Amino acid sequence: DPALFDTIVNLSKRRGFAFPSAEIYGGFRSTYDYGPVGVLLLRNVKDAWWREMVQRRHDVVGLDAAILSPPAVWEASGHLESFTDPLVDCTSCKERFRLDKLEDPDTCPSCGAKGSFTEARQFNLMFSTQAGPVAGSGATAYLRPETAQGMFVDFAQVMTAARKKPPFGIAQVGKSFRNEITPGNFVFRTREFEQMEMEFFVPPDEAEEWYGYWCRERFQWYLDLGMPEDRLRLRPHDDDELSHYSSGTSDVEFLFPWGWDELEGIANRGDYDLSAHAAASGEKLDYFDQASNVRYTPHVIEPAAGVTRAAFAFLLAAYDEEEVRGETRVVLRLHPRLAPYKVAVLPLSKKPELTGPARAVFASLADRFMCDYDETQAIGRRYRRQDELGTPLCVTFDFDSVDDGAVTLRDRDTMEQERVPIEGLADVVADRLGL
Ligand code: ATP
Repeated sequence: DPALFDTIVNLSKRRGFAFPSAEIYGGFRSTYDYGPVGVLLLRNVKDAWWREMVQRRHDVVGLDAAILSPPAVWEASGHLESFTDPLVDCTSCKERFRLDKLEDPDTCPSCGAKGSFTEARQFNLMFSTQAGPVAGSGATAYLRPETAQGMFVDFAQVMTAARKKPPFGIAQVGKSFRNEITPGNFVFRTREFEQMEMEFFVPPDEAEEWYGYWCRERFQWYLDLGMPEDRLRLRPHDDDELSHYSSGTSDVEFLFPWGWDELEGIANRGDYDLSAHAAASGEKLDYFDQASNVRYTPHVIEPAAGVTRAAFAFLLAAYDEEEVRGETRVVLRLHPRLAPYKVAVLPLSKKPELTGPARAVFASLADRFMCDYDETQAIGRRYRRQDELGTPLCVTFDFDSVDDGAVTLRDRDTMEQERVPIEGLADVVADRLGL
């Protein structure tokens, strides 16, 4: 449904998920700020990834490497040479496009001119800057275009410090920057974005097996967080799509309003990265297996996902409208783990005999979950607002609550209401949400 795109963009702005950056100055193309609920959604996506990829595993450890990095890293990785996209100019309207993303390479999507493109030239996507007050080549630094190189450069250091041996992984979540030629589709493609990447280092003869394993694991992750099966697919790359060092790559794709597009790539990268950095730095980036007396350079399986892109897809997948008593109810059926607020505490009226104890209920729940508190407007409108934010449970404190020490627990999806004692409420909530 193409209209869903606008619906989500509007809801994002109105409810505080994401909106254009620097709007009071007219905005800054393709940069977005994540508002009060957007920041929670992003955090929940990252936490869900970290929980699955690091916390619940004995064989993966974390890293938070620097964003600013010296040219040597990108020289060795091949990014300075070939992290490029083919750029064409329209000679008619002067707009620029990324050739490989043009639907019709003979027609300008902006002005409709035919055959108006210049020859393609390779445009490097890395942002460079100057580190320190000295201008000149010695002080050039790059903003990382991916988090992955941190894991390769620090491979030996991390393996020793964490006392790991292959098969093991290093995971990282953080911002990356690419000077995209044609950013767009809301937060799908932006110049500043967040990634969740893991490099899994394995003995060479186990690479194929681990590649299959990580394809299955990563696909399942989206399903477990509520993505519908009919809008998700795992697509192996054709041979002509593969990068020269990869013996296999598959994309997890989501059915966006404009068609199937990438959420995450899982690649079998061979020993390309470690070998390149070992050769360029002169350091040993390999593993000596004492049991078999063999030294080898581990092969790498890399699941690389986008945080902001995944959050957008989760919003699209969660959006639902239904008729309730002649009115349209908008509800985000987000998985409880992803929902920005787990519970909203709503006193039925603004009278102090209700707001006082309702805030005490908020305080006890907020100790364990991210909660909203809202005391203005009619209760029906407050429920609808929480439905639009995807809040799975509402707790209503009414006049009876003062006497019976109980509240009404309302379920987002079924709208069913149930009376529950305040005593032990946090455990009931945790139980209901499976958290
Ligand atoms: P494309 O070919 O579409 O430019 P890519 O295949 O080069 O993307 P990767 O380098 O594999 O992308 O990056 C891994 C993940 O990081 C992507 O699957 C995506 O989720 C995210 N990502 C990459 N570029 C962007 C961007 N400009 N904006 C938002 N997310 C991005």
